[in-house]
Amino acid sequence: MSDPSDGDDPTVPPAGTGACHEPGDSPDDCPVCGDGYHSVTDHTGGLMVNLEPNERFDRVCFQPVGGGDEPKIRFFHH
Ligand SMILES: [Zn+2]
Repeated sequence: MSDPSDGDDPTVPPAGTGACHEPGDSPDDCPVCGDGYHSVTDHTGGLMVNLEPNERFDRVCFQPVGGGDEPKIRFFHH
């Protein structure tokens, strides 16, 4: 049981909105802001981002990445 208003991770897309995985070719530092980051994930489908403050991440930078079979958005979690 979970209450949707009790602080669920706002950066995790709801089920059924596209694949998410940790890439093996991520850079050492975030290419958007230049800082180190906590974790990185690639997303290949539509997703929803809730920008309200949360305890898990200070911010998330978004970087489009190409070169694969399908377009992706890379999330750098700080
Ligand atoms: Zn960043």
